[in-house]
Amino acid sequence: MPYREKCPDFGDRRHEKCFSLFYTSPHSSIMAETAASPLKHFVLAKKAIAAIFDQLLDYVTEGASFVEATYRNPELKNVATEDELEKIQAYKSKLAVIGEVLSRRHMKVAFFGRTSSGKSSVINAMLWDKVLPSGIGHTTNCFLSVEGTDGDKAYLMTEGSDEKKSVKTVNQLAHALHMDKDLEAGCLVHVFWPKSKCALLRDDLVLVDSPGTDVTTELDSWIDKFCLDADVFVLVANSESTLMNTEKHFFHKVNERLSKPNIFILNNRWDASASEPEYMEDVRRQHMERCLTFLVDELKVVDPAEAQNRIFFVSAKEVLSARKQKSQGLPADGGALAEGFQTRFQEFQNFEQIFEECISQSAVKTKFEQHTIRAKQIIDTVKDIMDSINVAAAEKRVYSMEEREDQKDRLDFVRNQLKLLTEDIKRKIKHVTEDVESKVSSAMTDEICRLSVLVDEFYADFHPSPQVLQLYKSELNKHLEEGLGKNLADRCSSEVNESMHQSQQEMIENVKPLLPSGVQNQLHLLIPCRKFDLSYDLNCHSLCADFQEDIAFRFSLGWASLVNRFLGPKNAQRVLLGLADPTVQIPRPLASTPSAASIPAVTPENVSQEELMVTLVTGLASLTSRTSMSVIIVGGVVWRTVGWKLITLSMSLYGLLYVYERLTWTTKARERAFKQQFVNYATEKLQQIITFTSANCSHQVQQEMATTFARLCQQVDVTEKNLEEEIARLSKEINQLEKIQSRSKQLRNKALHLDNELELFTKQFLRQSK
Ligand code: GDP
Repeated sequence: MPYREKCPDFGDRRHEKCFSLFYTSPHSSIMAETAASPLKHFVLAKKAIAAIFDQLLDYVTEGASFVEATYRNPELKNVATEDELEKIQAYKSKLAVIGEVLSRRHMKVAFFGRTSSGKSSVINAMLWDKVLPSGIGHTTNCFLSVEGTDGDKAYLMTEGSDEKKSVKTVNQLAHALHMDKDLEAGCLVHVFWPKSKCALLRDDLVLVDSPGTDVTTELDSWIDKFCLDADVFVLVANSESTLMNTEKHFFHKVNERLSKPNIFILNNRWDASASEPEYMEDVRRQHMERCLTFLVDELKVVDPAEAQNRIFFVSAKEVLSARKQKSQGLPADGGALAEGFQTRFQEFQNFEQIFEECISQSAVKTKFEQHTIRAKQIIDTVKDIMDSINVAAAEKRVYSMEEREDQKDRLDFVRNQLKLLTEDIKRKIKHVTEDVESKVSSAMTDEICRLSVLVDEFYADFHPSPQVLQLYKSELNKHLEEGLGKNLADRCSSEVNESMHQSQQEMIENVKPLLPSGVQNQLHLLIPCRKFDLSYDLNCHSLCADFQEDIAFRFSLGWASLVNRFLGPKNAQRVLLGLADPTVQIPRPLASTPSAASIPAVTPENVSQEELMVTLVTGLASLTSRTSMSVIIVGGVVWRTVGWKLITLSMSLYGLLYVYERLTWTTKARERAFKQQFVNYATEKLQQIITFTSANCSHQVQQEMATTFARLCQQVDVTEKNLEEEIARLSKEINQLEKIQSRSKQLRNKALHLDNELELFTKQFLRQSK
């Protein structure tokens, strides 16, 4: 036989068979478990794929929280999409389910055949123990599945119940099955057998015994219920008869539902042929041909060469008995055995070997291939998600970096421009204020020159009484204040306003480019161009508070006037003060001296009586000396010529003049004199405040312009602050994006690593399977 040629040693040591696994896993723990049983192939593959799915679940969980954090970050919009998040989260739950399913995966072999063909015996022989009852016909119409339990006690569980029914012996099992009235035909009973007692069960193999194919008409429901996940079907046929249609019919049905099911045919009870050795070969050939025709031509589940390895001639009864002997330490062939036992025994082992190879490789493929493909899809999708996040983050980062550079440039520009503008605007303000100062100064000088006109324009009731005069002065001051203010405003205000408005507009226009467009449009609201009125603030009332008029009558040829004329105002004052009334304590300041305030008042304290006398004598002496001679001469001549007549005439004329002057000294004349004195006084006072007023005006202009500029600067400051904040925000964003880029790259690389693991798994476990 082909297999025998490959493996000449068929000793009955399952774990020392010549089979060696081709698996070279990178996982050392799995490597360590490399063992002789072909079933280990499945066990190792299951461990490997479970490990990969564990890693994949961890990876997807990690990836899902990364995508979620990125998606939920309000500063990183559009880097991760909702779709990506939903996808990766769905994978997370899917993977948890797959992991669970994988952990429950096992290999399943289902035995079919007619009643009493020896199905239970074959199972028992494979399990090395009488696990299932046999020889009494199938006790029920139930399916019996034998699977391993970690405990050391066998028990059974029926469908729809969690109760573990303990069974100690096969008879008990048979009895239990027989007694259980609740068991329906075609139900499944799980028999749990300690793994410690059986190597096959340790390797995740589940063996299912079926009621005879001849006892049921419900083949379809059987197949749906028990066969769809079976990896191998074993047809246990009675070699004492030929394949029956009921058996064939069942496998035809299976073949319809499953694509190329793995079917083995065991021609059992082959020991019976030993009684007629002369026909044995012919019978064998005949059976072989029929079985080959069935598998190759009818079912088409296997090619002719391979089919040879699917048909065996065995005696389950013998194998079971030999193995039981051996397990009890007795010689295998201790009992009376029919001829050819060794050959049949070896063929049974042969079957087991090929069956194990077949089922493990088939189960790995059917149980894990789809999951591998699914895992690959998940890895690819997650990798794509990471790639797309990486690309989106990179693009956003580049954009943010450009944006940051722009903002930095803009900030530098705004700062430098503001520095230059500040200098420029300072110069401009200086220029405008100087201009205003000179304008106000010259306007004021002009207006002071025209003061008499303004005073003349004043009309009010004038009377020398102090109360009326007081009121008159106050009204005059008011008139002067208003008049001067108005005239100055007429001369300067419009020009000053114009130049200031122009400068302010220039200022705004210069600052405008430094502000964001939104602020530019709102600038007229932020910097209201209010109407500026120059305040001259002359304050005439207090300025002229000290004005003291002199409107008492004075005869032009009177003593005081003459003295005044001859001695000059100062000396005359002294003389007059002294002579008029030496007891006068506070002499009246002269209204005609606008600078009276600056001249020290003549008081008895600083002008002594002696000094006055000296002055008077000196004055008289001087008068005498200068005129005495001419008076004597003229007097003598006149006296001789005209005599008393002339003197009388002169005296009359003097008197007439006095009367005339006294009569013309009316209120009107007094008002005129008052106004003249006031004009003189106010002129001097106003001249003193020209510099102050013009400086005050220029200061107002300077204040106004500086305020406008300060407001503009405030706007620029806000802009600078906004730019700084934007730069800081962008830097933070760039930093976050860098992290996301590197994290997504890292996760992408992890995906590649898992992809490699999966590829390795595929190569090592799936591609070898034929
Ligand atoms: P099942 O109904 O298909 O499970 O068949 P069983 O395993 O219960 O076997 C029915 C009867 O056939 C039992 O009495 C077995 O001892 C007997 N039997 C099973 N296998 C063999 C065999 O290989 N040779 C002989 N001579 N008898 C066998």
